[in-house]
This record gives sequence, structure tokens and C-alpha cells, in this order.
Amino acid sequence: MYRNSAAIYHSIPSDIDQKIDICIQNACNRLDMKGEGHIFFRADDVAVPSKQFFRLTQLFCFYRMPLELSVVPAWLTRIRWEQVKKSGQKSPDLMCWHQHGWRHINHEKAGKKQEFGPNRSHDQIRKDIISGRDRLEELMKESFYPVFTPPWNRCSLTTLNLLKELGYYAVSRIKESRPPAPIGLVDFQTNVDLHTRKGINPSKDLDDLFTELSRAISSGTCGVMIHHQRMNDAAFSFLELFLKSVVKRKELIPVHFKDILASGAGG
Ligand SMILES: [Zn+2]
Repeated sequence: MYRNSAAIYHSIPSDIDQKIDICIQNACNRLDMKGEGHIFFRADDVAVPSKQFFRLTQLFCFYRMPLELSVVPAWLTRIRWEQVKKSGQKSPDLMCWHQHGWRHINHEKAGKKQEFGPNRSHDQIRKDIISGRDRLEELMKESFYPVFTPPWNRCSLTTLNLLKELGYYAVSRIKESRPPAPIGLVDFQTNVDLHTRKGINPSKDLDDLFTELSRAISSGTCGVMIHHQRMNDAAFSFLELFLKSVVKRKELIPVHFKDILASGAGG
């Protein structure tokens, strides 16, 4: 399950705390016209209890920060659910558990990986979405929240239409994903990728990450993607400094998907 960490987490500068603080402060200052901004954190590939998973949830609980947990239904068993849900038991209000595909496998013969891509028929897609939802509802009961994050952040229009038809509140993909979600299906877009970065030059990639973060915050909605299996100690330290800095900014409000839906600001 463990995969390598992004290059930036192998060469973190010693003044990283100041750099994060300044980036967030400057981005918040550009929010002035809008008054306040929202930030959400989405952790993907959840289901298997691990040291890294518990370290992640402990961090969010410590900083009282909401976390959207994107769970792969086929990886979840009753025993695993009993274990992973413990991570949020003291602060259940901070954890929002939703669906991450069905089996997290690629069905495309060419091009980018997709579990719910154009190579699959309407019926296959429908069956897999429902299989995933049934499994999560059976194990999680009322803890399940009907939002769908497609593996690799990609899915076909057929999938989006089916999600709407099946009563999902929203899909969550990366910024500017195509095709656009149909009217009536909110798209919670992530615009900061902390751990699946492909840059090989740590210092350039860190600059790129700060640019990404700064634009995302000043846009009014910052959606941060987390992959705990790829986090080394430096990645955990970075995330902790990031959360510390967010907590200090009163104009940057940490939210759940359900808060965004309630505010009518999803898009
Ligand atoms: Zn995934």
C-alpha cells in the first residue's frame, strides 16, 4: 500500500513554517473583496487502518479541522470499518465519510486511468456505483454521506448523470474537470494537490505548490487533496504547519461538503 512521497518532502527548507504562514496570509489578504474564504480537506484511498491513517486523523482532530474521507468500498470490511471509525469517535462531527468509486481499478484500455470512464457501459457503471454505495451504507449506516469521488478524479458524463439520478448530492474532482457536472449535481473541486505531485525538482515544485495554494485560497474556495499512504514524516510536518496556519486565519473557514451545500456555494 505504501508508495513513495513526492520530491518536495525529501528536501524541505528549514524556514518552511514562515513560508507557509506568509503564503496563507498573503492569499487571505487578497480575499478582501469577498470577505471570507472556505477551505476543505479531502483524504483519498481510505479503508485500510494504518499508522499513517491514524496519524492523519489525529492531526485533524487535534486542530479541530473537518476532514472529508473518501472511502474505497471494496477495500472496506466490517473489521476495518470498526477500526477506522475509531479515529474520529471523539470528534465525529469532524469526519465526513463518502464514496471513492467501487474497487479503485482501471478499466480503460488506453489513456489515463479511470474506473468510471468511457470504456464502460451505462449498466456496468450503474452496477458499480450501487455496489459501492450499498457496501458503505451497510457498514457505515448513518455515517455515510452521499458524495462520490471518482478514482483518479475522472469519470464519464454517463457516470455524472447516474450520480444525479441515484440521488447523490455531489461529485468531487479536481478543478476544471471535464465533462462538467450536470445541473443539480454539485462539483466539489479540489485545487491543491499535496501528495501526488509529479515534479522532480523539489525547490521548483515547492514554489509551484505555494502558487497553487495561494491561487486556491484567494479564489474563495480551497480544496486540498490528501493521500496519507504517500506521506513521510516531512509531509506530516508540512501538513501540521499548514493546519496551524489555517487555524490562525479567521477569514479562512474550514468546512465540510455539507456546509458548502447548506451555504449554496457549491460549484
Ligand atoms: Zn484514489
